[in-house]
Formats: sequence, C-alpha cells, structure tokens
Amino acid sequence: MPIAHPPSESDPDRPGVPVNPVFAREPVEIPRFTLPDDGLDPDVAYQAVHDELMLDGNARLNLATFVTTWGEPQARRLMEESFDKNMIDKDEYPRTADLEQRCVRMLAALWHAPDPATAIGCSTTGSSEACMLGGLALKRRWQQARRAAGRPTDRPNIVMGANVQVCWDKFASYFEVEPRLVPMEGNRFHLGAAEAVAHCDENTIGVVAVLGSTFDGSYEPVEQICAALDELAAGGGPDVPVHVDGASGAMVAPFCDPDLRWDFRLQRVASINTSGHKYGLVYPGLGWALWRDTAALPEELVLRVNYLGGDLPTFALNFSRPGAQVIAQYYNFLRLGHDGYRRVQQTCRDVATRLSATIADLGPFRLITDGSQLPVFAFTVDDGQPFSVFDVSGALREQGWLVPAYTFPADRTDVAALRIVVRNGFSHDLADLLVDDLRRVLPRLSAQAGPQRGPEGASFAHGAGRPTGDDGRHGS
Ligand SMILES: *Cc1c(COP(=O)(O)O)cnc(C)c1O
Repeated sequence: MPIAHPPSESDPDRPGVPVNPVFAREPVEIPRFTLPDDGLDPDVAYQAVHDELMLDGNARLNLATFVTTWGEPQARRLMEESFDKNMIDKDEYPRTADLEQRCVRMLAALWHAPDPATAIGCSTTGSSEACMLGGLALKRRWQQARRAAGRPTDRPNIVMGANVQVCWDKFASYFEVEPRLVPMEGNRFHLGAAEAVAHCDENTIGVVAVLGSTFDGSYEPVEQICAALDELAAGGGPDVPVHVDGASGAMVAPFCDPDLRWDFRLQRVASINTSGHKYGLVYPGLGWALWRDTAALPEELVLRVNYLGGDLPTFALNFSRPGAQVIAQYYNFLRLGHDGYRRVQQTCRDVATRLSATIADLGPFRLITDGSQLPVFAFTVDDGQPFSVFDVSGALREQGWLVPAYTFPADRTDVAALRIVVRNGFSHDLADLLVDDLRRVLPRLSAQAGPQRGPEGASFAHGAGRPTGDDGRHGS
C-alpha cells in the first residue's frame, strides 16, 4: 500500500506536526521485496530497519567470527568522520592515501621485509581480495618464467592444505588454476612440509601456507615448508615461491611469537596477506597484501589511471572502497603501538588457553587445539556421549552464544568440531559466563537418548535461508 507522508510543519500544504512516538503511526506496512512507490518519514524508516536488525545475533557473543566486533569509541569517531572518503581518490584525499602507505611500511617492517621503505603493498577489502592479488602475482610470475623458457603455460596449479579458507578455492576457480588440496591425515590437521613438496611440479605457481588455520587456529609450519622447498629447488626441482595467508596470524605472531620465522625473513616467502579487520582490530572491510620486493609483483599487473587527476597506480579487484577502515588501522597502530598490540593479543591468548583448559576439564569434551597459537581453539565431543557437537552448538545458541559446529575436510571428514574464536573484547569474565552456560546445558544433553542434530539443520545460518552447519572454511 502507498504510505502517506506524515504531515510536516515545514510544508504549509500539510498542516500539523509529526505524530510521536513513531509507533503511534501504526499501522504502517513495509513492503519487503518491492521498492516502495513512496518513501517514509526518516524516523519511521529508521525504526523499521533498526527493529528488524534487533533479531540478528549479538555480535559480541558471536564466537564464530574472526572479525572485529569491538573497537574504541575514538576509532569509531574517526570512521564516522571519514565515511565520505573513497580510498581510490588518492589525489583528492592525499592524507588518507599517505596513511595507507604508512600502514604498508609499518607492516613491512613488522614482517621483516628486506627494505620496508621500498616494500610494495596495498590495502584491500579483506584477506580474500588480498589472497586473489597474491595468487595472481604468483600466476603471472610463473607464466612469465615459463614463456621465457619456451615452456607451456596452460596448466598452472597451486598447492595448499585442504584446510585453506574458501577464498583459495575461489582463487583457483575464478582464475583457472588447478587447486592441489593436500588432505589432512591422522592428527595432522593442516599442511605438512613433505606433503606440500610431494604435490609440487613444474606447473606449480606457488604453495600457500596458512598462519593459522581457520579450522582449528593452528599455525602451519611455514619455515619447514620453505626449507623443504629450498631442498627441492637445490636438487634441481622447480623453484616454488610461498604465499603466507596470515589473515589472522600475521597480526598475532609478530607480537606474541617474535622468534617464530614465518615471514619475509624466509627468502622463499614472496607475499603475505592479513585481514586488518581480524587481529588488526579494525571493523569489517579491511585487508592488506604485501610483496617482499618489486620483483615479486609483476609490473604489468599494476594498471595506471589518470582520470582522477595525477597518475594513479592501482592493483586491486575493487576500484572504489571506503577509506574509513584504513584510517582506523592507522589510528590503532598509533594508539596501541607494538606493545599495545602485544598486550591485546596476549590477553586473547590467555583467555583462549584458560577457557580451553576449563572446557577440557568439564569431562565430555576433547581439545583439538588449545588456543596457544591463534587465540582460537577447536574441540570435539568424546565418543560415546549421547550428544553431538551440533547439539552443543544448538544448546549454546539458546543462551545467545554463537559457537559454530562443523566437520573437517578431507581426509578427516569424520571429525566434527566446535570452534571458539577469542577476540579483543572477549574477557575472562565473558568466558566464565560461557562456561556457566555450558555447565547448565550439559545435564540435559547428557540425558538425551542419542545425538539430536547432525551437520544438517545444525548451528546457525551464515547466509540467508541456509540453516546448515558451517563447514569451517567459511569461518569469517
Ligand atoms: C578469514 C580468512 C580469510 C578471508 O579473509 P576475509 O578478510 O574475511 O576476506 C582467508 N584466509 C584465512 C586463513 C582466514 O582466516
């Protein structure tokens, strides 16, 4: 039905004042799938949208996501002040563009690039876009080398663990590279060095090493993978570069595990990505991609545009992008500094390891990881219990907690796990409340005749109308 504008004070043809409160204007019918013929009063439209969103889960209780759900008010204020700035308009917003370059330099130094001052990198929408760029650079470098050697370029492949995040399946599919997914085996739930090498050949554009795995928060052995590839090359085999998907870990390991060698200290690491919106502590919408030096990023991938004024080099899938997240990243770097980041990430790790130990002590659960690498851990229900991980996820959901349950990929699809991601803002206090709730539901679950929920219809939907268990790879 058409919705009449409420009378307005400022319009002499419509005498009267708007009726308050908003709900006194009921009944108002909101068309759900059609563009309304007429608009609404902004207060009414606001209330309608706001009310519908109340039914979303509470972001702070969302233990499924890796993405920031709490930020400082000052960061929010800076973002509000810069919502109107388009990141691509570098000539128009030179200060914003400069903050981006400063962040790239800081990350290059953090990740031990040979020369941070000339390191090459950019911000992106998230790690997914950054991974596409990293993968594209690997593919183009491989093509160039093959062409130069007079060899065919029609069958590129990329080697990675079956535990990679779904963005790598996308990269392989969208950019027509054969994905060589190394299966899990026994208690190896991520890529191993020997297995990675065994899957490489002359058509391998690169190996993806993940720091750390979406499924269980474990770090892949980047140094061992690089060493094994060094050996392969030294023995006359192909010389295969490594891209490190540090979506989470590239913002955790530098602060909490400074001696772990996973970054540009390893010659073989050509590029690294991270999600500014995960342990970079920025609200959703930011990733970073860096290359160790200009040789690692083929110049032909960098396009130049002049229609914004100036000569703008761009290597990205998107053109326009919000500038606010980059500004918030710079704020976080200034605000926290190295030691501030260390304290935030270490606190997350302390909460995760203490929470995992407490859950292990409850009895029916078995830890797969304990949160001592990424502050993320996966655990499963012991054999013989009359309930499934999906039952636990459902029961916690009733208490407001969003804890995903999912099965592992090949060859451990027999493992079903729950995963808890501890982020900035998830305190020891909240962790204790979660354990209280878990304790409260256990007697009921233990009294079941048998598991009630399986992977189908379990957990909660990640997309509209998809009430299935998360398969772990989509863990955002
Ligand atoms: C989250 C994640 C991605 C995807 O990152 P977005 O920032 O959500 O696009 C890729 N790889 C890993 C390991 C991740 O954890």
